[in-house]
Amino acid sequence: MSDWEEEYNEDSVDIQKPAKKSAPTEWKLPHDDRRRGNVCFGVRNENRFGAPREWRADRSAGGSEYRSRRGGGEGRPCPWGTDRGDAGRRTYGDEKSDCSPPVTITVENASVGRIIGRGGAKIRELEESTGARIKINKGDYEGEVVIFGSSAAQQKAKEMIEDLVADGSYRFRNGMKGGQHGGGGVGGGYRNGGDVGVRSDSVWGAAELQAGNAVPARISIDWNTIRENKDKYEELKWKDLPPMKKKFYTEAESVSMLTAEEVSEWRKENNNIFVDDLKEGEKRHIPNPCRTFMEAFEPYAEIMENIEQVGFVKPTPIQSQAWPVMLSGEDLIAIAQTGTGKTLAYLLPGFIHMDGQPVPRAERGGPGMLVLTPTRELALQIETECKKYRYKGYKSICIYGGGDRRGQINLVKGGVDIVIATPGRLNDLQMNELINLRSITYLVLDEADRMLDMGFEPQIMKILLDIRPDRQTVMTSATWPTGVRRLSKSYLKNPMMVYVGTLDLAAVNTVQQTVLIVHEEEKKSYVFDFIRNMQPQDKVLIFVGKKLVADDLSSDLCLQGLAVQSLHGDREQCDREEALKDFKNSRVRILVATDLASRGLDVHDITHVFNYDFPRNIEEYVHRVGRTGRAGRTGAAVTLVTRENWRMASELIPILERAGQEVPEELVLMAERYEKHKSEKEMYNSGRGGGGGGGGWGRRDGGGRGGSARGPKCGF
Ligand code: AMP
Repeated sequence: MSDWEEEYNEDSVDIQKPAKKSAPTEWKLPHDDRRRGNVCFGVRNENRFGAPREWRADRSAGGSEYRSRRGGGEGRPCPWGTDRGDAGRRTYGDEKSDCSPPVTITVENASVGRIIGRGGAKIRELEESTGARIKINKGDYEGEVVIFGSSAAQQKAKEMIEDLVADGSYRFRNGMKGGQHGGGGVGGGYRNGGDVGVRSDSVWGAAELQAGNAVPARISIDWNTIRENKDKYEELKWKDLPPMKKKFYTEAESVSMLTAEEVSEWRKENNNIFVDDLKEGEKRHIPNPCRTFMEAFEPYAEIMENIEQVGFVKPTPIQSQAWPVMLSGEDLIAIAQTGTGKTLAYLLPGFIHMDGQPVPRAERGGPGMLVLTPTRELALQIETECKKYRYKGYKSICIYGGGDRRGQINLVKGGVDIVIATPGRLNDLQMNELINLRSITYLVLDEADRMLDMGFEPQIMKILLDIRPDRQTVMTSATWPTGVRRLSKSYLKNPMMVYVGTLDLAAVNTVQQTVLIVHEEEKKSYVFDFIRNMQPQDKVLIFVGKKLVADDLSSDLCLQGLAVQSLHGDREQCDREEALKDFKNSRVRILVATDLASRGLDVHDITHVFNYDFPRNIEEYVHRVGRTGRAGRTGAAVTLVTRENWRMASELIPILERAGQEVPEELVLMAERYEKHKSEKEMYNSGRGGGGGGGGWGRRDGGGRGGSARGPKCGF
């Protein structure tokens, strides 16, 4: 039985599994060889490299050895015995006088199979073509290829093995032991460096690799410890936080005295306010609403002065219910349409919260309130709203992408109390350690649904890592989709939820909505016609789907001598700000905009919204329409619907119905046709999916042989 047969089964799988050991080989003095006297010891034949070694792995200690059974040719015995059996008897071809110390190359185990080949074929081929003898010792992770023979044969074999292993992207560790080129003393070999190759496409199968212990043991991850460490790290991170106060509410007597029936009646009459406690387990008392400013802010004279100054008569429904919750220190989710007064709903309690902190403002070391909001326009608008009120001289700044970064940094450095920011720019300042977020105790996630739509979740997550976890958090959103629910679960603690109206999408009912079914090519004449009929006090926001259309339409209108502005993401920030300013102060009464302006844009006197292009989704329709009919006014919306928008028809109908608007017959027909088309398409697809050979649904043109000649017809 050959050596190969001893050590491999038919598939070259190493039968003798090496024991665990990291060092591939243990080198020992070959005492037997000394006794045989065939070694090059002694003064004249002294081995200048020191004592020869037995190039064999010690099996008891682990590792395994693979060696070719082929011998060399006739000639002078070689002192570098290749195994116990034939050490000293081997000769190496014609190079009689040249029997060099063995050369060792270290390769990773995954490469060993390549050198051996199936059933040892490759190693035999190598030996035949080079005249060298090759022995392989496999360890746990690496193997050693030991090459015996004349230096020429060794060199040739070494090169061939390197080529074999280094093939393609292979990296390779080339080590020499026994020192072909010098070095002395026992074990006087040297490694000439390199690194261990990493390759997964070994010629060895999984079983072989496993048998050869070529694959390192799977590292199991101790998640419990990781979690524990994370908690410990968190504890450590927030260890030295200064104290914080959240409760600032004293319920007025007139509020306490309200009966449950009175409260429920009041909520119903005020846009059907609904309040819920989202805390799991035992529910808390939900504060009664404050029906007047005095009921909410009596102890805060400066707030009351501000309200008197702006001239508001009474709190909006969301404010009435949100203020007692927020002043009580609870986290809050406010689901409210734009224009309902939600900005003031979170700003005023924020002022009181900051002022009531035990750490004096001068020692805070950073802002106390952060409002995260999706767009620059919204950020600027919140800042404007914020600046309307003066409270304790608080300073606010706006941080948004596209704005003057250096200027924003300087403002932060100058010391601010309130930061109103878009997530991207704030995250940029945070990563560059240009802003301290640890001082923030009052956080607002404004228009959370929009922030998620715009893909800001990663930035929000990073920002919140640096804000103390025991802060007070308020989140506003116009809608309540799954993403927003998930966000609220992660970042709010036992919040209360206040929503105005139903949680279904509902366009404001102060807006008269007209839907016109038109052809794409008619759209321009409709909009021109509309503009021709505008009254001097009218102000229209025209929504288009693409930036290009915004430019195109606004220049068409300009060419007609109309004063018009456009607003879209490709315009410079200063141009965007100017466009908005012109529209706000009525220098222009026509603004052509993309959905950049669909949310949050607060221009009180927009009389009309004109949907030139139908929005991407029905939520956006609701937001667009909400740009008019604000702050107690009425408004009108005109929406052009083309056949391309037919899939939206069935979603638009309930919105119109709920707001008590007329639903055009054509829109209903469009919705029906689309539903029909959809079900036919589904049937068609399921027919195809069944692989039903020759069925009538099998061909688009409806001409399938052997089945019904009816193909699915386009419904529109
Ligand atoms: P918002 O929903 O925050 O975009 O608010 C829309 C507009 O309503 C803003 O211009 C506010 O100044 C205004 N507003 C806020 N609260 C009231 C209120 N109680 N009465 C009348 N207007 C208000």
